[in-house]
Amino acid sequence: SSTGSGCILWFRKGLRIHHNPALQFASQNGVSHLYPVFVIDPNYMKPDPNSFSPGSTHSGLNRIKFLLESLVDLDFNLKKLGSRLLILKGDPAQVLIRCLKEWNIRKLCFEFDTEPYYQALDIEVKNFALAEGIEVFSPVSHTLFNPKDIIEKNGGKPPLSYQSFIKLAGQPLPLLSTELSSLPPVGHLGTCDVFEIPSIRDLGYEDAKQGEFSPFKGGESEALKRLAECMKDKVWVANFEKPNGNPSAFLRPATTILSPYLKFGCLSSSYFYQQIQDVYKTMPKHTSPPVSLLGQLLWRDFFYTAAFGTPNFDRMKGNRICKQIPWKDDDKLLEAWREARTGFPWIDAIMVQLRKWGWIHHLARHSVACFLTRGDLFVHWEKGRDVFERLLIDSDWAINNGNWLWLSCSSFFYQYHRIYSPITFGKKYDRNGDYIRHFLPVLKDMPREYIYEPWTAPLSIQTKAKCIIGKDYPMPVVSHDSASKECRRKMREAYVLNKELNGLVSEDDLKNLR
Ligand code: FAD
Repeated sequence: SSTGSGCILWFRKGLRIHHNPALQFASQNGVSHLYPVFVIDPNYMKPDPNSFSPGSTHSGLNRIKFLLESLVDLDFNLKKLGSRLLILKGDPAQVLIRCLKEWNIRKLCFEFDTEPYYQALDIEVKNFALAEGIEVFSPVSHTLFNPKDIIEKNGGKPPLSYQSFIKLAGQPLPLLSTELSSLPPVGHLGTCDVFEIPSIRDLGYEDAKQGEFSPFKGGESEALKRLAECMKDKVWVANFEKPNGNPSAFLRPATTILSPYLKFGCLSSSYFYQQIQDVYKTMPKHTSPPVSLLGQLLWRDFFYTAAFGTPNFDRMKGNRICKQIPWKDDDKLLEAWREARTGFPWIDAIMVQLRKWGWIHHLARHSVACFLTRGDLFVHWEKGRDVFERLLIDSDWAINNGNWLWLSCSSFFYQYHRIYSPITFGKKYDRNGDYIRHFLPVLKDMPREYIYEPWTAPLSIQTKAKCIIGKDYPMPVVSHDSASKECRRKMREAYVLNKELNGLVSEDDLKNLR
């Protein structure tokens, strides 16, 4: 009715009940009807037969599945509070504007989002709402800090080092003090079509066999369970030290694997932060940023702030913080990397885990990102970024781009002479090559002395291991020694040219080049 006080809560990320300021606000101050909505854009979800892995044009199937599971869980948790999740379909702006009209809405709430996609979308929706006299509430709750504040404090530019970021950041945004005990009921739906949460089959995908999907299930309930499990081991939390984690641990991974839950906001980063602080209170001796667990969450905010304050953050051209490097356009090498056919078992095993699980350890990400770009293949970081963006269940615009800029020595980190060896790096953690044997079963009988370089095994050994190199498993696509040397040379050249572009080249630089 025209006297109603309907409110739409528009879920995008922030797929949770706990610490959700938009939801809190949406259910207060005389709201008679609350419409919690999630808009499925069919263009975003529909199968793309031309892609290199199952999924849509924008996302691999593992992440689509994770999202759908998160929606099911959100609906379940909303129902416990007397509400439910309304699924709408179509172009998000159009669908939302239609519902704003149809449901006689007075208030629109949604979490602030720094991604360019949402920035554009939100302006469209906001403009319509404001013109109609609808109140819009869009709080920052995906990150610990408001990136805008930090950029302002720094004179309009994002801080580009972790230390300067920490200095500027100050105290994180406060946690909400109250918990929700019930929500206003959903009002009449009028002529707006509301759907059930689709299954992947409804979206046009074939049901895969058991074990073909990521082992990580989406949703707030799963996130909170996982968080509680991690926090129980106080000694582990207090001693967490990122560079010491074992990237080859797969039976019990070395880190929390909370990233996909943070990505979709099934878990509040502020709540996670608070929980770590609580553990620290009882464990006075604990590690510190940047290596501590708390420090990991600060990395997340660091990249969000850099991404928000940097135009064209997701590309090399027109990105003022990105070195201009003449990367090779070599689709053959890119494909070998993507399809786990480089001939380096450490690299290929990681790429298989990425495809199957949608998650790999941070140092595994380092290994394959360095290998593709400045370490061995000299392929453009944007190409690798695209593959990660598709396959990761935690794929996150700010963090993924930020880390590819980092690993390719395009920004933030510039020690391009430090290259991860695709042969010896993994060996440090896993002498026997159990990780490789698990994800590349073709090599499971290769003796340990050859498992990281099977092409060096005598033919008799290859025969005995039932794995002939060049036939059952590929020969290496490059020789690491000469490829990495060549990469260093090209990086050195590019760095000098970049300085020249900026008028900073010295005589020494020029001498080094010759
Ligand atoms: P934990 O070590 O348990 O850390 C807890 C949380 O801290 C993580 O869930 C994450 O939110 C945050 N965090 C940890 N490391 C980083 C980091 N280096 N930068 C920013 N935040 C961090 N992380 C993503 O969430 N999405 C991505 O798309 C992504 N792409 C990456 C691409 C490359 C090339 C590299 C090198 C790293 C990327 N990372 C990405 C960062 C990091 O590898 C993952 O966040 C981490 O491995 C996730 O596992 P976890 O939750 O067990 O981490």
